[in-house]
Amino acid sequence: MPKITLTYFSIIICLIHLASVGKGEKTEMQKRETKEYLYLVPFDEVSTEVLHRIGEALKEQLPLEYKIMPSEPIPRSAFNPERGQYYSSLLLHLLAEKYANPGRRVLGVVDYDLYVPRLNFVFGEADMINKVAIISLVRLRQERYGLPPDDKLFMRRVLTEAVHELGHTYGLKHCSDPHCVMFFSNSLADTDRKGYHFCKHCLKLLQAQINKEK
Ligand SMILES: [Zn+2]
Ligand SMILES: [Zn+2]
Repeated sequence: MPKITLTYFSIIICLIHLASVGKGEKTEMQKRETKEYLYLVPFDEVSTEVLHRIGEALKEQLPLEYKIMPSEPIPRSAFNPERGQYYSSLLLHLLAEKYANPGRRVLGVVDYDLYVPRLNFVFGEADMINKVAIISLVRLRQERYGLPPDDKLFMRRVLTEAVHELGHTYGLKHCSDPHCVMFFSNSLADTDRKGYHFCKHCLKLLQAQINKEK
């Protein structure tokens, strides 16, 4: 069994803090010529526009060129009728079996609610070994909480989740800096204060891993 790192509701929701990454560091990242592929894999129906926006935004944060793959039919076996949710680890395993490759990272995107046993739900999950991750969009919309839609906030949350989970695929663990994307957030408020940028320490670890993988 691959070692799996979970990102929960309490962990995942993080938001933008643009000041947390220095301009010089970001420029250095953008200078990289060797880029790896990120496969974005939707399960069932996921907005193509949202997938493109995720891919484009991730290019600013990580040295990845994205490809949007055909939609995967979500297996019924992953659905738990009592919970009305899909079992995240099973979907992650399916992604790893089909797409895992040393030269790529994979991000599954689901517009259904996800869970793992013993937790009410998860926003995402990552498999560090196979460099595969998955995120759910469902709980990131303001409408979910009876509030008016906020597309900008929704996309910030989506990106924060995506960067956090992909950060785990670079071997990053949770960070104690509340303004770092790898921070273990306990609430939506934490998330909305947090950003999708890495702190200097995590950025250093990230760059070391990127160099190692070259
Ligand atoms: Zn995490
Ligand atoms: Zn950090």
